[in-house]
Amino acid sequence: MSASGSKARTVSAREGASFEVLPGRADRGLVILCDHASNAMPAEYGTLGLPEEQLKRHIAYDIGVEPITRALSAALGAPAVLSRFSRLLIDPNRGRDDPTLIMRLSDGAVVPGNRKLDAAEREKRARLFYDPYHAAISAVIDQCVATGVSPVLLSIHSFTESWKEFTRPWHVGILWDSDPRLARPLLDEFYAQADLIVGDNEPYSGHLIGDCLWQHGTSRGLPNAIVEIRQDLIREASGQAAWTERLIQVMQKILGTERTPVHSLAATNGTGQAIVEPAAARQGARLER
Ligand SMILES: [Zn+2]
Repeated sequence: MSASGSKARTVSAREGASFEVLPGRADRGLVILCDHASNAMPAEYGTLGLPEEQLKRHIAYDIGVEPITRALSAALGAPAVLSRFSRLLIDPNRGRDDPTLIMRLSDGAVVPGNRKLDAAEREKRARLFYDPYHAAISAVIDQCVATGVSPVLLSIHSFTESWKEFTRPWHVGILWDSDPRLARPLLDEFYAQADLIVGDNEPYSGHLIGDCLWQHGTSRGLPNAIVEIRQDLIREASGQAAWTERLIQVMQKILGTERTPVHSLAATNGTGQAIVEPAAARQGARLER
């Protein structure tokens, strides 16, 4: 931060029961999101009736993404917002009215504590966990926008190396909906890395109305994309460090001045409508994104 910068140009660290804000420059042009950072369960919910080991699986959170988000935020000087509760409690990357907001069954595991939920309990979880997380994101974005530099939203997720019988070949996937401004340069940068198999809206589509980026990116007109990293590559610290470094390099290029700034890229393609037909929704895809 420059000496002339005002306090408002720094997003401060902040914590709530359901979220954590990592500090960064409000005028950095980037907000990092990590919806599935944690497998933590509030004490009153125990394990939702699941065996303890189920909470260590991908059904409870995105393996490997929390340390990457922290390191990326620090390296780029960009604010980040992480969730502090398991997606099994309530999934922050779903619309508030989405039927998969609270999963009764996830990748073969029945979630006993979610089987018989009345409206009051659903509302309680939304009010105590889901809403404050999204309010924190909105507040960070508001502060960034107030500097005059609109941020791009980069959401960090991980996916399982196989789904049902299918072994997923991609090392990384870029998920996006209708706005190519961040997704296209991300795809280009990863395509340029010869050792990677890169998915364009694989292993599933970024078109999900009501999801986190739809709420905070699409609906506000901010460039946005999800980076999905295959979880076996980032289960250990060494892989997390390697992928953090890849993301640092990629995002520095995208945010830097040596190429077209992301904000000046056309939001639409030559036909005027940059709608990518999402890859066919795969059975079960919504269960674990
Ligand atoms: Zn995820």
